[in-house]
Amino acid sequence: MHELRGLNEECGLFGIWGHKEATELTYLALHSLQHRGQEGAGIVASNGEYLFGARGMGLLNEALSKEQLESLKEFPKSIGHVRYATRDSSALSNVQPFLFKSHIGDLGLAHNGNIVNALHIRRALEDEGAIFQTTSDSEVFAHLLRRAKGKDRKARIKKVLQQLKGAFAFMIMSENSLTIALDDHGVRPLMLGKKDDAYCVASETCAFQAIGADYIRDIEPGELITITDDGIDFDKYTDYENPNLCSMEYIYFARADSEFRGNSTYRIRKALGEELAKEMPVTADIVIGVPDSSLAAAKGFSDESGIPSEQGLLKNRYVGRTFIASGQEARERAVRMKLSPVRDIVEGKSVIVIDDSIVRGTTSKYIVRALKEAGAREVHMGVSSPPLKHPCFYGIDVSTHAEIIASNKSTEEVCEEIGADSLTYLSVDRMHDVYRKFGSRGQCDACFTGNYPIENIDGLLPQEKDAKTKGV
Ligand code: SF4
Repeated sequence: MHELRGLNEECGLFGIWGHKEATELTYLALHSLQHRGQEGAGIVASNGEYLFGARGMGLLNEALSKEQLESLKEFPKSIGHVRYATRDSSALSNVQPFLFKSHIGDLGLAHNGNIVNALHIRRALEDEGAIFQTTSDSEVFAHLLRRAKGKDRKARIKKVLQQLKGAFAFMIMSENSLTIALDDHGVRPLMLGKKDDAYCVASETCAFQAIGADYIRDIEPGELITITDDGIDFDKYTDYENPNLCSMEYIYFARADSEFRGNSTYRIRKALGEELAKEMPVTADIVIGVPDSSLAAAKGFSDESGIPSEQGLLKNRYVGRTFIASGQEARERAVRMKLSPVRDIVEGKSVIVIDDSIVRGTTSKYIVRALKEAGAREVHMGVSSPPLKHPCFYGIDVSTHAEIIASNKSTEEVCEEIGADSLTYLSVDRMHDVYRKFGSRGQCDACFTGNYPIENIDGLLPQEKDAKTKGV
């Protein structure tokens, strides 16, 4: 349901170094990260002397042809990327990994996140004569690296990273090394794994499961890891560290089977549902979850409240992107095609519906109406996250203030707008209690609280920025 809510993760990364099936494994791993981006995909691979790349628009199986994959088949080192593109930036030139050529060597680059001072850097570089090939914020990295001075490649990469602000998980590939870097707030997830003798890296551990790799650990904020044929080197590019992993990863973006610090997203979501039940003083006949991302929270709610859980909503898994359209009417049609109530389950009942978030309110409004039309006596909405009120500057396409329903309306007003009999959100404090319980070192909650952990240096809202740099 990501596309229907104006809430989109922007990228998924996977890389592997020194495996005879590197490209095939990258392709399979990207499949399991497809939920993080459906508008474009690419792979860059090394044969030890040069880098070669393939990329295209659409879902992975549309973006990369059999012939393209075949041409990279023998290469033992590979990085891949899936991306979501905002409407204006869905150009092939912005699909990653980027592949830059120069006489000192090739550079493959894949980025998840958003560099909040990219516009400033880009303007300064343009004034010095640089010409950019894409409208992506990630391209500034390549320009800075080409200009950086330092005793070796790692020293130069460190210098570049120290100039960047914002959220970034980077994979930086040369012919003979793969460097992995995570920003000093660790906003976007990045995991280290191993497949046979080869180290691999992924945005989520579900990618490791897909290829039979072992999950080693979460990569830490400020960490810089270099993998070569000689082994792996662990370092930091900064001593500053202020962990702020995106809260929405737990609530909504990550796959339920992905793990953070050894805990599955499913367990974390279930605990969010349990906490919501403590804050929602409503009795009802049944609890139902909005498939798929809210089913774990609904189970937690049911366990804690003792109200039986049922499958009252079904998701049509075969509705393609034909139904993903902009505009309110098109969005409503898309929701109707995707979700249907089970009349036999809800008829005559008082129902608690658990959803993980409300952005525009389109989905919630439809769900309440559809359940009532199917005969539900009462529909109470429980949201397993706090009210989403503010835009995100760190790589999530959260709509502008104007599009976020809770940004301009009180809980009572949102409840009235969606037509529910009651509406309860999880509180920010209880959300953080859950995260602490699961070993979190600190979470970004800016879209709920407005407390941005990293200053938005370019000073532009995402949509305004789109017109100028069209960030990835
Ligand atoms: S503002 Fe919200 S969506 Fe953006 S990184 Fe922070 S928690 Fe995640």
